[in-house]
Amino acid sequence: MQGHTPRRRFGQNFLADPHYIRRIVAAIDPQPNDTLVEIGPGLGALTADLVARAGHLHAVEIDRDLAARLRERFDAAQLTLLEADALRFDFSRLAATLSAPLRIVGNLPYNISSPLLFHLAADTASLHDLHVMLQKEVVARMAAAPSTPDYGRLSVMLQAKFAIARLFIVPPGAFSPAPKVDSAVARLTPLGAQAPQIDDDALFARLVGAAFTQRRKTLRNALSACCTPDDLCAAGINPQARGENLSVEDFVRLANQVSRL
Ligand code: SAM
Repeated sequence: MQGHTPRRRFGQNFLADPHYIRRIVAAIDPQPNDTLVEIGPGLGALTADLVARAGHLHAVEIDRDLAARLRERFDAAQLTLLEADALRFDFSRLAATLSAPLRIVGNLPYNISSPLLFHLAADTASLHDLHVMLQKEVVARMAAAPSTPDYGRLSVMLQAKFAIARLFIVPPGAFSPAPKVDSAVARLTPLGAQAPQIDDDALFARLVGAAFTQRRKTLRNALSACCTPDDLCAAGINPQARGENLSVEDFVRLANQVSRL
């Protein structure tokens, strides 16, 4: 690992298998004028191929030691390195500065994957697409259909904003050090004009969160703090149903109904 001791707190499992590096870069299919942004470039396993294909990319890395190594390896014409916490990084501002929606890529630190995806989903107008590698189970939850065990808050919140494609599985042996679980690569494409109109994003997020806090509760009980059974009926939703039975469109219709109260 070229003398770097992996830091668990930063979720450092570095890609080491050239076969999977090639497959991920092929799935991204970088083009010379793309505004590519890599989250967590680490030791540069993906970065090198991305630079070779796109010519230049931006990268957000929290680990100072890794940032110093990357600066030695890539020059400023190849890599604009932003030493920052991706959870706090203002991707909207970067897109505005570059006057182009961003193509975000990353073998993401698994310990912050959900909050990072929510952070990115807050402004989909700044995004062209996302290619992310995550724990296989998280990708299954992102892409799950209603009334299946994996369907939950993550599915609804992300599917309200993105089309989600599960691309392929990456086994633990492709990393150093090897994680305990399988990983999977996913492509998220903003729905743009096809996205359902959400009147109040904060209310939508609260309602979806409440519906899944206790999965076995009926919506009548789970949502008692935000709406009455009559409000549910007015939105065409059975108060005896559970959150897992509602489609993304059902959640949007309900949140918009409640926001008008
Ligand atoms: N992309 C490299 C690869 O595929 O080998 C490294 C992937 S490793 C799973 C995750 C990377 O994200 C590490 O480089 C880690 O330091 C970085 N990282 C962890 N938390 C971060 C954060 N909050 N913001 C930016 N980078 C972070």
